[in-house]
Amino acid sequence: MNTEMDARLAAVMPTYGRADISFVRGKGSWLYTQDDTAYLDCATGIAVNAFGHGDARLVDALITQASKLWHTSNLYRIDEQEKLAHRLATHAGLDQAFFCNSGVEANEAAVKMARRFQFRQGFEKRFKILCAGGAFHGRTLAMLAATDKPLFREGFGPMPEGFVHVPFGNLNHLRDAMDEDVAAIMVEPVQGEGGAIAAPEGYLEGVRKAADDFGALVIADEVQTGMGRTGYLFAYQKTGIQPDLVVLAKGLGGGFPVGAVIARKAVGEAMGPGSHGSTFGGNPLAMAVANAVLDGLEEEGFLEDVRRRANLLDAKLNKLADDYPALIIERRGAGFLRGLKLADSLAVGDMTAALRTEKLLCVPAGENVLRLLPPLTLSEAEIEQAYAILDKVFAGFASS
Ligand SMILES: *Cc1c(COP(=O)(O)O)cnc(C)c1O
Repeated sequence: MNTEMDARLAAVMPTYGRADISFVRGKGSWLYTQDDTAYLDCATGIAVNAFGHGDARLVDALITQASKLWHTSNLYRIDEQEKLAHRLATHAGLDQAFFCNSGVEANEAAVKMARRFQFRQGFEKRFKILCAGGAFHGRTLAMLAATDKPLFREGFGPMPEGFVHVPFGNLNHLRDAMDEDVAAIMVEPVQGEGGAIAAPEGYLEGVRKAADDFGALVIADEVQTGMGRTGYLFAYQKTGIQPDLVVLAKGLGGGFPVGAVIARKAVGEAMGPGSHGSTFGGNPLAMAVANAVLDGLEEEGFLEDVRRRANLLDAKLNKLADDYPALIIERRGAGFLRGLKLADSLAVGDMTAALRTEKLLCVPAGENVLRLLPPLTLSEAEIEQAYAILDKVFAGFASS
């Protein structure tokens, strides 16, 4: 039995450092193992299960669509896709959506769109994409070039050209790097993988201005921050700036794989038939579920309540930071994308393992940050439960 299980695990390419645990079912904010042990899920499959597990509306949307029609390709019109495109574009203050299956694909498409837009405007040499230090945009070759993590690129070169990094949050460096060859500035409103780092006040406004001054587009990578994660449908909406392209994935399908780029009409016009594609992108199953996710997010008062509960969680994390100043050196993030930067003496991997032992699931992020990504539906009682476990585990490390 064990050798067979080992052989199966060995058959999975070891691209992830997997914890030796698996879950067989989920309900709300909780995941259950085969022996029915419950874990409080503040990881949500890395900011994916926006409505937790087994949400009745999403299950119903999936099953209803699954019993009617799964897939037809984009050779034909797809009613649910047109509906979602119109809804997302309206929310984003933009005009058109392109659908694919993941965050990296959506980012890659957004970069193609920005370059193609510039090309159609007559700026054939305007191909540079300005990215932020510490950025994470995904794992394809081009998005590795956009991601600022040299280790991720090791042995995968040569990288596609044209991606330039400037320190995140610093407008002087950004302006210095701007020139006539910049097609777009690509930015995460809150850097997720990089360490739950929110852009400083005024930064996104400065990005918009710098882009406008040089005829560049702004791509908001909201793969992690979008779909209510920060308490707003899109994180940039808190600032009032208008990106030209908004990239979505993680929370968009609540667990069903789907990605999207929302763009200005002029960008869509620069693309046109044959310019890009995806066999699976926007298929009826994905679109039905994503429409149900959006239904939930649009519910009167829902996002306001996310902000209220996120503030409660933040107050708890504040208390932890006060109680364990030797272990927690900074609080970070926004909404339900929260981070605690740990002291060098406490490796985040050890922290997430210890929390898992106490049945709380969290995610590491860059810069030794413990990241909390609960479902947007996390209740006040569950915030207390998460706090109690965090307090116990921090107390254990503090006394060791
Ligand atoms: C996760 C993530 C991606 C990549 O998404 P995948 O679905 O894993 O390809 C891109 N950008 C950001 C900001 C992310 O958090």
